[in-house]
Amino acid sequence: MYIDQIVLENFKSFGRTTRIPFYEDFTTISGPNGSGKSNIIDAILFALGLARTRGMRAQKLTDLIYNPAHEEDRDYDGAREASVEVTLDNEDRTISPSQIATAIGTEDIDEVDQIRVKRRIKQTEDNYYSYYYLNGRSVNLSDIQDLLAAAGVTPEGYNVVMQGDVTGIIQMTPHERREIIDEIAGVAEFDRKKADAHEE
Ligand code: ATP
Ligand code: MG
Repeated sequence: MYIDQIVLENFKSFGRTTRIPFYEDFTTISGPNGSGKSNIIDAILFALGLARTRGMRAQKLTDLIYNPAHEEDRDYDGAREASVEVTLDNEDRTISPSQIATAIGTEDIDEVDQIRVKRRIKQTEDNYYSYYYLNGRSVNLSDIQDLLAAAGVTPEGYNVVMQGDVTGIIQMTPHERREIIDEIAGVAEFDRKKADAHEE
């Protein structure tokens, strides 16, 4: 499985609909400082429900909505809605059709080669709302998280290594580094279950 493309609408610095295609093996994104490279990573974290606001370098979720006055920290009465759709190529069936059916909540699925995960936030006068979609159908965040976990993509995982993470990893104690390796290898989950069982 790999990311096939992402489509951003009013997300952070992307004030117009932007489609970014990815290659199967390796894709690099280059550009000047502040041009939005890290915002693309934030968009993936946002859509897949992998990070809290701080992880996406925003104080509140609504800061993720495009705001041309962002640098001046002023409010903007334009777009009050943002969305990101990540299309995953699943031709290799990393995620099985039955797992997709479970997540969508119906046996009647027509798309298995592509998994489209979309998140939308909408701001109103005094609140904001977050919506998730799987192949166009409304779902909960937990449905998406369960589905992605089947492909080894989790909020605790190191699927995304952020700017600064590498230095952090280098400066860790060997024990802390070992914990990361356990997490990636999937051993940590069993350690947690074992500890839970002992407690019971
Ligand atoms: P670097 O090479 O320094 O890491 P980068 O290409 O990763 O840069 P980003 O951090 O992705 O750059 O983009 C930062 C830019 O995004 C800043 O100019 C910031 O003002 C802008 N930005 C962030 N949030 C918003 C928003 N909600 N609306 C408009 N622009 C925003
Ligand atoms: Mg950056």
